[in-house]
Amino acid sequence: MGASEKNCPKCGGNSLVQATDFIHLRPLEKKLGFGTEKIYTVCLDCGEVVSIRVKDPKKLKN
Ligand SMILES: [Zn+2]
Repeated sequence: MGASEKNCPKCGGNSLVQATDFIHLRPLEKKLGFGTEKIYTVCLDCGEVVSIRVKDPKKLKN
């Protein structure tokens, strides 16, 4: 198993996939800002969302 591989903390499975809902997260102060998509890392074995991150965090910066 490579160092970059992650396991699901819930079931220990390693079938993790990245997904997005295409809904942009926007800065609270700039509601009309473009924002950035969220990337979910989901376990295919149990459905646990292992992590949520944004695609381009710089877009949330003022
Ligand atoms: Zn799992």
